[in-house]
Amino acid sequence: MIEIVSATACIACDVCIKVCPTDVFDRGADGIPVIARQSDCQTCFMCEAYCPVDALYVSPVSAPAGPDNPHTDEDAVAGHGLLGGYREMVGWGRGRTSGALKDRNPLLKAVPPLPESRLPAPAPLATTPWNHRSD
Ligand code: SF4
Ligand code: SF4
Repeated sequence: MIEIVSATACIACDVCIKVCPTDVFDRGADGIPVIARQSDCQTCFMCEAYCPVDALYVSPVSAPAGPDNPHTDEDAVAGHGLLGGYREMVGWGRGRTSGALKDRNPLLKAVPPLPESRLPAPAPLATTPWNHRSD
């Protein structure tokens, strides 16, 4: 769940406000996003992934961390390198290697491209109602 917007790092670009699928943020008077509807957060990490200056922290827990919790303490989160930590992990941002390029999933790489002609014919449509036995 979204927990921190770093006012010192934020450049007021509005990207997080635009990408959030559930409209969690409002734009503050100074341009810094305000977490206005935290309970609507889906913990999708999109805001953090798109923030160009690593100014956001989305906790991996899908419930509010609450006060006096290290996940809401900007100094603690920044001190552990976790402001924008998800973005760093997926390799987004200047000088990073995207997670897609680092993927070594043997299953996906083992599937050869199939030409159209090798695809099986579509299953024939049922001629009787699917929920009735014919016998
Ligand atoms: S984690 Fe997703 S739902 Fe939550 S504030 Fe960020 S973009 Fe919105
Ligand atoms: S994406 Fe980052 S820099 Fe842009 S408004 Fe949101 S927190 Fe600020």
